[in-house]
Amino acid sequence: MKSVDKNLLSPAIIAPMYLSPRVLLSIDYEPWFALFRRYDSLTDPHQRRALDGGFTLRALDPILSLLGEAKASFYLVGEIADWYPEVPQRIAAAGHELGLHCHTHRPLKNINELAQDIRASAHWLRQYHVRGYRAPMVGIHEAAYQLLADSGFAYSSSIYAPAGVLLKKGSVWEIPVSTTAAPHNGGYAAPRDFTLNLLLKGEFPYGSSFSIGILGGQIFKLIERDLKRGLSPSIILHPYELVTPPLSARLTRDLILNPHLLPFRRNKAGFLKALLERFPVSPLGAYLDEALASQGQVNA
Ligand SMILES: [Zn+2]
Repeated sequence: MKSVDKNLLSPAIIAPMYLSPRVLLSIDYEPWFALFRRYDSLTDPHQRRALDGGFTLRALDPILSLLGEAKASFYLVGEIADWYPEVPQRIAAAGHELGLHCHTHRPLKNINELAQDIRASAHWLRQYHVRGYRAPMVGIHEAAYQLLADSGFAYSSSIYAPAGVLLKKGSVWEIPVSTTAAPHNGGYAAPRDFTLNLLLKGEFPYGSSFSIGILGGQIFKLIERDLKRGLSPSIILHPYELVTPPLSARLTRDLILNPHLLPFRRNKAGFLKALLERFPVSPLGAYLDEALASQGQVNA
C-alpha cells in the first residue's frame, strides 16, 4: 500500500494508513419518488406507501442477490420499515449494516424537524442497534451532529470530501462521500457545503450516484486511483438504480419535468457487478471500527 501523508494524522482527521483500502459501499434505501421534491409535501403515510406500490419490498431480494457475499451499508428510509418490517429484517439477516437515511425523505434543514424525524424511526433504530446516518440529499447542518450524538449515532456520512478524510464532530465521526480531489492536511470541516467553487477548482463528487449515472465505468478509474493512494472511496447507490421501476405515466411526467434527474434512472446493476468483481468493498461502520483500532495502534 502506498503511504499517505503523515500530516493527515491531526486530531480532526485521520488517514487510516494501516487499513486495507476498499470501496465503502452504501445504498440509500429509499422509494423512487424520493428523487422528486414535489412529493416532499405528501405527508399521508397511506398515500406514500401506495405510491411506492411495493417496489421497495420487491427490489430487495434482487439487490441482496446482486451483492452476493459482499457487505454494504444500507441507509434505510424509516417509512419503509413501517410499510414492510421484513425489509430491515432481511437486510440485517443478510449481514449488511443498517443505517438511517431519514424517516420521511425530504431535505431536513430544521433541527426540530430532524429530531422529530429521527424519533419516528426510534423503534427500529433501537431494535437493530443502528449507529450510522446519511442525511437526505447529503445535506447536514452544524446542530445535527449533537442531535445525532444524543440519539445514539456513532457516525454520519453526510458531506462530500476526498477519500481518506475522516472528521470528528463531538463524539460523532463524519465519513464523507468521495470527491476527486487528493486529500490535504487541514481545511476540512463538517458540515461542508459542496459549492460551485469546489467544482470550479476541479473537485467532483464522484461518489454520488448522479456522477455514476453520468460517468458509468469511468468511475472505476477514479476508484482505482484512490485505492492506489491507500484510500477508501465512499460511494452511494439507490434501490431504483439497481432494479429499474416500471415507467408509469406518473414517473414519465416527473422525469420530463426534471430531466436533470435522468442519470438516476440509468440502471447500475451492471456497474455494481463489475465493481464487486474488481474491488474489495465494506460497509462504512466496519471501516470506522478498523480505522479507530488502527488509530489506537498509532497512538500507542
Ligand atoms: Zn436520499
